[in-house]
Amino acid sequence: MTIKAIGYAANHSFSRLKPLAFEREDAGPGEVEIEILYCGVCHSDVHQAENDWGNTVYPCMPGHEIVGRVTRTGTGVTLHAVGDLVGVGCMIDSCRECAPCEAHEEQYCEGPNSWLATYNGPMVPAAKAGGNMYGRDNSYGGYSNVVVVKEDFVLKVPATLPIEAAAPILCAGVTTYSPLRHWGVKPGHKVGVVGFGGLGDMAVKLARAMGAEVTVFTTTPEKADAARALGAAAVLEGDKQAYKTLERHFDLILSTIPEKHRVDPFVPLLAHGATFVAVGALTPMPGWNHQALVMGRKSIAGSLIGSIAETQDVLDFCAEHGIAPDVEVIPIQQVNEAYKKMKAGEVRFRYVIDIASLKPELEEA
Ligand code: NDP
Ligand code: ZN
Repeated sequence: MTIKAIGYAANHSFSRLKPLAFEREDAGPGEVEIEILYCGVCHSDVHQAENDWGNTVYPCMPGHEIVGRVTRTGTGVTLHAVGDLVGVGCMIDSCRECAPCEAHEEQYCEGPNSWLATYNGPMVPAAKAGGNMYGRDNSYGGYSNVVVVKEDFVLKVPATLPIEAAAPILCAGVTTYSPLRHWGVKPGHKVGVVGFGGLGDMAVKLARAMGAEVTVFTTTPEKADAARALGAAAVLEGDKQAYKTLERHFDLILSTIPEKHRVDPFVPLLAHGATFVAVGALTPMPGWNHQALVMGRKSIAGSLIGSIAETQDVLDFCAEHGIAPDVEVIPIQQVNEAYKKMKAGEVRFRYVIDIASLKPELEEA
């Protein structure tokens, strides 16, 4: 049996997202069917839809910040029940056998097809012939009315979180939470956040809730007040005087800039032994003066989303600390406009699609 579904998808790298009717398989053993309520719009969705990473499978139906309600469960499901408020992030399966999977770090899955992304199929594309371990080359994400996911890749959304604001925690939240935890941010640490967009907003809130002193580096002077409202200091990127004052200041700097960018200006700002983590740019970066790293045993690092366990942790952490992303809810018919505004840096701070806006299109389909 299949489920009638509809979503918004791009047919090629330069097309607008348009309605696409399709079918999802019914929930099989161990799977849950979720009626999608809200889906966040991540900058990765734009990169993927526009084939910035050269690996897009079309049609491309983005959406990996999904919140919804369980509407059916397959046989053997024990973790979720019909009516539960749940979330789905960037991953819907992994090989479950490799060392990272065994260590519950599924986002670094080393299986033959790596993890299965919520949209765009396996992270390592299938060989042309012979298929792959997931039995599909593409997957359709959360810009749609319904999704079916293995129960252990489905998260529990705490009831105290605003539903629409919970959605971006599934990617923007965990992508910033994971490195903050990995590099051991604790009270009194000094954390720099570079790029104050969807991820940056969450990075500031999470680091503050962990007790860190936070400084935002922004290219947008108008965002300084928003940073201060969150208890962070704000520095305009490239402000030489401010950079001089902040030399050897930070225990961790987290860059969320979505494009390749220079790292060199930030190295002097790292304290002895500290780390600069770039999560934004999934692309070759310009080099740096290695001597500057050597002299302070400093590191430059990357970090990929977060594990399923960390995704549950960050949802619970946000509920416990009363924090959530700042969101602007839009109907799905405005998603192309939202992409334009996101690329122009005009979003404050995350667009979230109200999936109820898909109903008329579902009825027509
Ligand atoms: P947003 O567009 O919401 O925010 C990015 C911010 O970076 C902007 O608001 C702007 O902040 C700043 N910025 C944008 N362009 C430039 C530029 N050319 N130079 C300097 N600063 C710039 O994006 P998201 O927060 O949703 O995503 C950020 C990046 O993280 C994306 O590339 C996305 O693909 C990636 N990502 C990576 C993940 C991972 O696992 N590593 C997971 C999720 C996303 P300001 O106005 O303050 O300067
Ligand atoms: Zn994302």
